[in-house]
Amino acid sequence: MAKPLIICRDLDITYNKGKSNEFKALSSVNTDIYEGEYIILFGASGSGKSTLMYTIQGSLPPGNGTMLIRGDDIYSYPPEERVYFQRYVMGIIFQQFNLIPSLTVLDNVALPMIFCDADKKKRNRRAQSLLDRFGVGFVSHKIPAMLSGGQQQRVSVSRSMVNDPKILLADEPTGNLDSVSTQQVMDKIDEINTFDRRTVIMVSHNAAHLSYAHRVYYLKDGRIVREVVNPQRKQIKPVKEGETIVTELEQLARLFPYDSIDTLRVKSLVNYLTQDYTYDQLVRLEKSIRYLIKGKLHKDAFVKSLTAPFEAGGIGIDAATARKMAKISTRMIEQADDIRRFRAQREKEASSFFSQDQLAERLRDHLLHSYRLQLSEKQNKNLVDLIADRVTGVIEEATFHEMLARGITVGGLSLAEKEADSLTRYFEKLIAQGVDVSYKS
Ligand code: ADP
Ligand code: MG
Repeated sequence: MAKPLIICRDLDITYNKGKSNEFKALSSVNTDIYEGEYIILFGASGSGKSTLMYTIQGSLPPGNGTMLIRGDDIYSYPPEERVYFQRYVMGIIFQQFNLIPSLTVLDNVALPMIFCDADKKKRNRRAQSLLDRFGVGFVSHKIPAMLSGGQQQRVSVSRSMVNDPKILLADEPTGNLDSVSTQQVMDKIDEINTFDRRTVIMVSHNAAHLSYAHRVYYLKDGRIVREVVNPQRKQIKPVKEGETIVTELEQLARLFPYDSIDTLRVKSLVNYLTQDYTYDQLVRLEKSIRYLIKGKLHKDAFVKSLTAPFEAGGIGIDAATARKMAKISTRMIEQADDIRRFRAQREKEASSFFSQDQLAERLRDHLLHSYRLQLSEKQNKNLVDLIADRVTGVIEEATFHEMLARGITVGGLSLAEKEADSLTRYFEKLIAQGVDVSYKS
């Protein structure tokens, strides 16, 4: 059986040892990291993630314990050998990019090759080809300050790979990036792991990143408090029987990566109280619904994907429930289309109130029909206004809800609290389906 590439045994790191500001940043840390793994060090700010990463990188000797790479204690190497190791075995990416401001992008990337045998022309060619690969080749002649954050980070990715390292270390590489640039950088790092088969160790406090990793080490107050295996990736580290069992919370965390643990607990309990679908069934249900929303599955095929037995790739839901789900879903998707059109209209031409009103009226009719409500003329008008205001974001969910219960003369509907509740909840779901980044184009 293969041995781990990186072994940490009982690592302790203390900053300012013996001084009044002595601080123990790592206590008894143990890790086994195998060649080709993608590992995330996850935890709150100050938990010791960076400290552990810099120890692995060879620039922070442990106070106690050992850190071995391929069986070697690199802290016992003479300085020049350790530098060689850092230059050719490790690549590193920082949150703040750390590019040299006065050098061009090309020179920044070529710089770490300065000690190798290749001549300048060869070095530049390699640097340029990496920049091309990571989508920033066209800015190679510029200085870093002229680039966006996302571009600068992709330059750092190119630089980290220039000496063809075995291990890529990344300390919150997307911490300073917007969501689009984050996705691009995450995809590139993923590619380095899956395509180039490099070992990746990434520091992150973003739960949305966890699904990229083979395994996640959770740090808290300088200790590894939990190790989680990602069952969605084929494991490299030999896993013992039973180790891949994940708790429902961990499963939910993957379905709802942005929710807090408290919210996940609520979801878990609600799941328990309202239905007895398993996690695997829910995953398949999500997939079918995604296809339905995208128009890749028609209603009948959707029902079939729900009713087919689990072993045959279905979900094993009974036919009546499946048909009900299909009915509700298709109806909501249709209404969501109206919301999208409504918004598009609003964007295009603020003056075209006629068709906007029509759409709001259709949404009103839909709500009335779904809820079998009978409204007076004034209530009807108020509801159309409220729908228009809510869909365009003029009022928030809470105000929408409040207004449904308020008096008719002040623009409300005078609904009972319970009716207002369920109507609001249903309408918010419709809106969520109708929000679409493409509605602007
Ligand atoms: P993380 O990367 O998880 O945010 P760090 O590893 O950077 O955490 O830091 C862990 C703890 O060690 C923090 O409380 C931090 O203040 C402290 N620390 C980090 N670097 C130093 C240092 N050079 N001197 C003293 N304390 C430090
Ligand atoms: Mg840090």
